[in-house]
Amino acid sequence: MRFTTFVLDRASQALRRGPSISKLVVLFAVSSGGLVAYADSRLDNGVEIPQGPPKKKVVVLGTGWAGTSFLKNLDTSLYDVQVVSPRNYFAFTPLLPSVTCGTVEARSIVEPIRNIVKKKNGQVKFWEAECFKIDPANKKVLCRSNIGTNLDGNGEFAVEYDYLVVALGAKSNTFNTPGVEENCHFLKEIEDAQKIRRSVMDCFERACLPNLSDEEREKNLHFVVVGGGPTGVEFAAELHDYVSEDLAKLYPNVKDLVKISVIEAGEHILTMFDKRITKFAEDKFQRDGINVKTNFKVVKVSNKAITMTNPSTGEVSVPYGMAVWSTGIGTRPVMMDLMKEVGQAGRRVLGTDEWLRVLGTNNVYALGDCATISQRKVMEDVSSIFKVADKDNSGTLTVKEIKEVLDDICVRYPQVELYLKTKQMTDFSYLLKDSTGNANEDSIELNIEEFKKALADVDSQVKNLPATAQVAAQQGEYLARCFNRMKQCEENPEGPRRIREPGRHRFRPFRYRHLGQFAPLGGEQTAAQLPGDWISIGHSTQWLWYSVYASKQVSWRTRMLVVSDWTRRFIFGRDSSCI
Ligand code: FAD
Ligand code: MG
Repeated sequence: MRFTTFVLDRASQALRRGPSISKLVVLFAVSSGGLVAYADSRLDNGVEIPQGPPKKKVVVLGTGWAGTSFLKNLDTSLYDVQVVSPRNYFAFTPLLPSVTCGTVEARSIVEPIRNIVKKKNGQVKFWEAECFKIDPANKKVLCRSNIGTNLDGNGEFAVEYDYLVVALGAKSNTFNTPGVEENCHFLKEIEDAQKIRRSVMDCFERACLPNLSDEEREKNLHFVVVGGGPTGVEFAAELHDYVSEDLAKLYPNVKDLVKISVIEAGEHILTMFDKRITKFAEDKFQRDGINVKTNFKVVKVSNKAITMTNPSTGEVSVPYGMAVWSTGIGTRPVMMDLMKEVGQAGRRVLGTDEWLRVLGTNNVYALGDCATISQRKVMEDVSSIFKVADKDNSGTLTVKEIKEVLDDICVRYPQVELYLKTKQMTDFSYLLKDSTGNANEDSIELNIEEFKKALADVDSQVKNLPATAQVAAQQGEYLARCFNRMKQCEENPEGPRRIREPGRHRFRPFRYRHLGQFAPLGGEQTAAQLPGDWISIGHSTQWLWYSVYASKQVSWRTRMLVVSDWTRRFIFGRDSSCI
């Protein structure tokens, strides 16, 4: 098969070369069900046509939001692309909470990665394996097949790269709390959601067994969610709907014993949202009978009880039937290893520059949940910025001089623009007027100290991007565009002026566009925080949620499946079979 592809490539290259080739034989023959092609692409004098340089090898680790978005947008005919991931599919994670209760089926939100890449014009190779070591010094990654059985050797292999795109995502963070790994469910992968679905049903069936005391039934029907972030809250809301809309009718004898608790260490749930949404969610949960315990930190989980502390009550233990742990994300071991290799051992998350290149490497890029952009601070470069702007070397800057470099500065340091926005300054000259106390723009001249003073607070606007699918997908798209235009941009750089060296950057740095965020709260009600701090809560927002999530599906196939699952749920309710 590889040979066939090779000769077909050669034939098409020869065809592209056109009339300069006087002799071209392309022979196709169908032999034992396979297609065999032969192409002789020699010139008359018998000299082999020189082939172009081999394509650069791009290796992508991960088929989540970042990796898939990169692949979908990459011009794969330009590179030799290889993808490594232990999952041969992309999963639409925002609908995972709906899978836990059967509102949508697991297979409705996944798309095989081979379906996605088959639409590309170039070949993409996929290896279903886990990368266990990244070796930037030798430009290779070591992988292990997770299919496991029946492989010669131990299923390990190495893949070499010219460019590495790391999009491994993150793992659930237990903060080393004892007993969590053994006794709690996580909600990160499709399998997690399926396990939770089975476990919920097991709890109900166990609670219905004969000869159980009421206390035991209650314990079995106590569902605990640890973590009041968007995932935990959505799961609690989803479970409440499932119980009240479907299970209450099927388990009438135990329905009143069901209890759902959300345990949160902070003062409120959904703290990343506007206060109005937090308040609405807390009030709604109270009305629904969901027990929100804020200011409680879980310190231990056994197979029978969850132990937590609170400054006023001290340590308390509550028995539970099933617990879901959703307190945020942590770094995967393979990433920890990479951080050591590239001199980032002290950091919490792998750092990249604003072009998504891993700090300390030349050709390794990292995006999505596994990395964070380390935005260069203005104050670190302020003297260099001053030098670049001071064209006439006068030792002072005029407003005209600053305006000439301002666009580049705003692209290189987006915090400048953000700062002006938050201070409601329409123009940079307001900052300068503030620092010199001079109201007349034309007569402003700043020395280095005044310039530093003007920019002193700008870096307060530097914020880490959230670990969301939105960020990961935009980063994947951005990086693919850079890869697609690598050659053009090498010749005609399109990025901002370099501050500490001469010349310009090849590309513009990555810029995140926030499109808004949803928090489904159950009972066909959703809260949304849209750009410009526009808040919308209620039933109409739920319909907005349905249409956005249907439109965001990666294929028409999954879109149809998800919409039909929602319709099925409306008509027949959710399926409570324990399979
Ligand atoms: P992932 O999507 O996690 O992908 C990582 C990939 O790497 C996977 O394919 C994995 O199999 C692969 N991988 C792992 N280890 C290895 C290895 N060793 N070698 C090779 N491959 C490996 N975000 C939103 O914006 N909106 C939402 O509504 C939303 N809801 C969410 C709900 C839930 C339940 C969860 C868990 C997350 C939600 N998120 C949401 C967050 C979003 O899913 C993540 O931010 C996003 O998945 C990050 O993308 P990623 O590509 O970095 O990682
Ligand atoms: Mg000057």
